[in-house]
Amino acid sequence: MATRKCKVCKIEFEKQQPLQFVCSPKCGIEYTKIQNAKKAEKERLQNQRLQRAKKRELETIPELTRKAQAAFNRFIRLRDRFKPCISCSKPNNGTSNTFDAGHYRSVGSAAHLRFDENNVHGQCKKCNQYLSGNAVAYRAGLINRIGLAAVEALEANHTPRKWSKDELRNLAALYRQKCRELE
Ligand SMILES: [Zn+2]
Ligand SMILES: [Zn+2]
Repeated sequence: MATRKCKVCKIEFEKQQPLQFVCSPKCGIEYTKIQNAKKAEKERLQNQRLQRAKKRELETIPELTRKAQAAFNRFIRLRDRFKPCISCSKPNNGTSNTFDAGHYRSVGSAAHLRFDENNVHGQCKKCNQYLSGNAVAYRAGLINRIGLAAVEALEANHTPRKWSKDELRNLAALYRQKCRELE
């Protein structure tokens, strides 16, 4: 007679039936419990995966755009945290939350440049929020920082740009990663 190890108590027993995994009815009850728990856990994980996929599918382009923009803007604030305000030259204090990420060409009028690193720079809140971006001074500061050719390229860029859901997810992930590298 073949022997095998009981799946529950690990004792060697003599196998009576081909599909016998346990030594006794007592271990049999325990074995069923373990199997049921495993099954329940598997179902739970499967449900969780389904929920996540559903949630992902329901995410809208505006939501994903907001998330990508938040990550991108945070990256700009971190990148420029030691640089003065792009328009009024007010010094920054080396933290990422005193200045804004100010768009040279605004998201409202040039949405295709919303994720362009040349188009967005650390800017004091006064210039960004109360002086409507302080555009004339921004241009002078921008020429200083990236050069006239790059500024003119920005100004001449009228190519519409749309991002798919996955592109927006990738942008958000990319800029979160870039932020981690700077922190
Ligand atoms: Zn047993
Ligand atoms: Zn300023």
